[in-house]
Amino acid sequence: MMNTIAILGAGESGTGAAILAQTKGFEVFVSDLGTIKEEYKALLNANRIPWEENHHTAERILAAQEVVKSPGIPEDAPIIQRLREKHIPVISEIEFAARYTQAKMICITGSNGKTTTTSLIFDMLQRAGLDVGLAGNIGNSLALQVAQQDRQYYVIELSSFQLDNMYDFRANIAILLNITPDHLDRYNHEFQNYVNAKFRITQNQTPADAFIYWSEDPVIDREIARIKPQATLYPFGSNNKHNVAYTDGEHLTVAARPDVQPLSIPVEQLALQGQHNRLNSMAASIAAQLLNIQNDTIRQSLQSFQGVPHRLQYVATVRGVRYINDSKATNVNSCWYALEAMTTPTVLILGGKDKGNDYTEIDPLVLQKCRALVFMGVNNDKLVQHFAQLGFEDNKDAPKRMVSTCNLHDAVNACADLAQDGDTVLLSPCCASFDLFTSYEDRGTQFMNAVRQL
Ligand code: ADP
Repeated sequence: MMNTIAILGAGESGTGAAILAQTKGFEVFVSDLGTIKEEYKALLNANRIPWEENHHTAERILAAQEVVKSPGIPEDAPIIQRLREKHIPVISEIEFAARYTQAKMICITGSNGKTTTTSLIFDMLQRAGLDVGLAGNIGNSLALQVAQQDRQYYVIELSSFQLDNMYDFRANIAILLNITPDHLDRYNHEFQNYVNAKFRITQNQTPADAFIYWSEDPVIDREIARIKPQATLYPFGSNNKHNVAYTDGEHLTVAARPDVQPLSIPVEQLALQGQHNRLNSMAASIAAQLLNIQNDTIRQSLQSFQGVPHRLQYVATVRGVRYINDSKATNVNSCWYALEAMTTPTVLILGGKDKGNDYTEIDPLVLQKCRALVFMGVNNDKLVQHFAQLGFEDNKDAPKRMVSTCNLHDAVNACADLAQDGDTVLLSPCCASFDLFTSYEDRGTQFMNAVRQL
């Protein structure tokens, strides 16, 4: 009998997995509970892969020997529960694709900074002339690349949802940037479940592999002592003797290999500014040194890599007010770093689909930096209640004002009214975008358009 594989979710990863599975001789069936994008339908049709949308035909899915699940589908979805009852293995696209390539895997996870760090490492490897692909949450799926143009190296951004369904995958270099509460709605509201998912990045690693991590993250520090990863450890952070990459605030030093001169670069030369980006830059540089990339190449990348859109992206200055798009700040901790990087009084736009957020983490910075708060979304009540306790009032004469809006246009206009010459307006919403927008990119793009119309 032919091996059959079912693919749940026909997005980038599902479509790629379907094509790879077919290439490898499986009988494939693709099922999506939502509507499949035209581009993916066209790709499936071109490869004569059967698919269905807007429903799941359970019999066909339950007849598969193995199922590849899109990271967007939660564990408690009824179809997943039925697969579990029948003990049919459910794996992620990365787990599946990795079976068919010999490439070296450089994998990045963390609550924040994944895309930035992944893109920076990719830039370093490309500059060094390596045969490298970018995969995971960004770019083309790993599966599609393995099927069509396999590489010698992959730099892969891994979310906790992808890691949830990875079992035998082994990262040659694993990076864990930080762990702060996020996506708790998908983890039974238990932070430890989310922490465990992140640490799956170290599973199957051997001492020949590297585990690069921020040593001053209290959660990571505690878990390393408990889990004792097998990989060789490469901690980074502040200037202390355990860290192989560190900063004293003026320089950033990377000394991942005893046989290579350390790399030293003044922090003001880093193209990516802000405290968080120093951490991202250290993590990326350690990975590059371990891959034998020359310090000069690493330095060039650090000096010129411009970052990715929607992350502390400068938009425009209108009537003396700077507007910054940090739409990708979809959790509280990323907003913390955005506020930390602000150098002027700030009008902050917050709100969206709340994922069980606790805003107390940003209270001190809000008090220190924010002139006013503008809420935008369907969960404004929680924000109003929380920030009222900090002394913000929905009242024209109040010294600390907060304003509730329910669309982006009103939010940007409210900011323009509240901001004074020399201020910054920052969109760093702490929340997912799915209440009013199709994605964080959509939210960021609409924000930039609204600013340009002011
Ligand atoms: P991710 O892919 O993990 O969501 P991004 O690189 O897209 O990370 O950045 C997401 C948000 O987090 C942005 O708002 C960015 O300014 C902020 N950020 C980036 N790196 C870090 C970091 N190391 N620690 C905390 N926040 C960060």
